[in-house]
Amino acid sequence: MNTCAIVGINWGDEGKGRIVDLLTENYDVVIRYQGGGNAGHTVINDRGKFALHLLPSGIFHDGVVNVLGNGVALDPENLMKEIREVAARGVSVTTDNLKISARASLLLPWHREQDALEEARLADKQYGSTKQGIAPFYSDKYQKKTVMAGELFHPEELREHLRDLLEWKNLTLTKVYGSRPYTTEMLDGWMREWCEPMRPYVCDTGAWLKTAKAAGKSILFEAQLGSLRDLDYGIYPYTTSSNTLAAYAPIGAGLPSLRPDRVIGVVKAYSTCVGEGPFVCEMFGEEAERLRRAGQEYGAKTGRPRRVGPIDLVATRYGVEMQVATEIALTKLDVLSGMEKIPVCSRYRIRGEETDEFPFPTELRKAEPVMTYMDGWQCDISGVRRWEELPAAARAYVTMIENAIGCPISYVSVGAERESIIIRQS
Ligand code: GDP
Ligand code: MG
Repeated sequence: MNTCAIVGINWGDEGKGRIVDLLTENYDVVIRYQGGGNAGHTVINDRGKFALHLLPSGIFHDGVVNVLGNGVALDPENLMKEIREVAARGVSVTTDNLKISARASLLLPWHREQDALEEARLADKQYGSTKQGIAPFYSDKYQKKTVMAGELFHPEELREHLRDLLEWKNLTLTKVYGSRPYTTEMLDGWMREWCEPMRPYVCDTGAWLKTAKAAGKSILFEAQLGSLRDLDYGIYPYTTSSNTLAAYAPIGAGLPSLRPDRVIGVVKAYSTCVGEGPFVCEMFGEEAERLRRAGQEYGAKTGRPRRVGPIDLVATRYGVEMQVATEIALTKLDVLSGMEKIPVCSRYRIRGEETDEFPFPTELRKAEPVMTYMDGWQCDISGVRRWEELPAAARAYVTMIENAIGCPISYVSVGAERESIIIRQS
């Protein structure tokens, strides 16, 4: 059987959507297994430029079945809006090409509100949330205070279940945050407007995947964010609220026996980070602004300027290890074209000692980057499709990264479009 996970190695926005879109034609099924509508996966193909949030990136390929697994934060309102948006641009989303797990928990209307209220309370100590309700959603899921998509098939019981949750959540909204309470009318309206149109897509995806597996279908897992944002292994508390690691894919996808036998880790040729938290290799000033502009580093979901820096070999090696990546796709190499010297964060210095080990989150604040420099190349490489045709300096840069992280780089991306890729034979 052919199963593959495409995951982020760093802070997210490595170009996962672009790599999933490239490889989807080899797969029958694409599954999102964690995270929610806070994702921004940019895909540029013959149908135009899209920023996907919750829909799997396989949605553009005819014949591919896309699955939203039980591990995702299922936001009916944003999902239905997204389905309508892509449909308006000629991408049809039907019950044949989109299946939603009956075991996926619903992001309820108050989760987005609670997210914003909490960020406002934190004032200058914000986490940098995208305010999509993801943290309150996962907290409530683990407190067993949300509902599952399959409950939509049992409207009477669901109404009662929601009523209990409403009573409980209103205590927090009104007494903790001094905000307005929700009413049953508001919930009924939300159900009618967003949940009912979503219901036809909901099914027992576990059973469906079991049949697909038995029939020898090939399956691709699409992750959101990257290793350093993993709730357990990332830079806590500046993580997301779910597990971004490939190891979680069998759980979040809906069939625990479905383990990825290939894990492609996506690494950007330099670093970017959205939101708060330690970012050891961060560059500032004009140098940063130039890189940000060259790479168009502004959030796909929020439009926020991303923090930028050189590639961080310490963090990347750790990310590769946590993902148990079997190979790497290196993206955005073209963005570095024209730089005279390319900075590389090769080690960290903590209290005067140099280290190759990625430290405990609290220690990370004390880490300083140890910089080295590689020769740049002074030509446009965006049209290159063969490894041998890359300038020697560009090949040296890729090979240096490969050796430092101990994982083969089998794809080198030199542009955002589907065909802008160099595939290296291993
Ligand atoms: P994701 O969240 O990991 O899917 O990544 P994003 O879509 O948020 O960010 C990656 C950005 O880089 C998008 O705007 C892509 O279109 C763009 N991109 C991806 N690969 C390349 C590449 O090789 N070169 C260039 N110039 N842009 C790329
Ligand atoms: Mg993104």
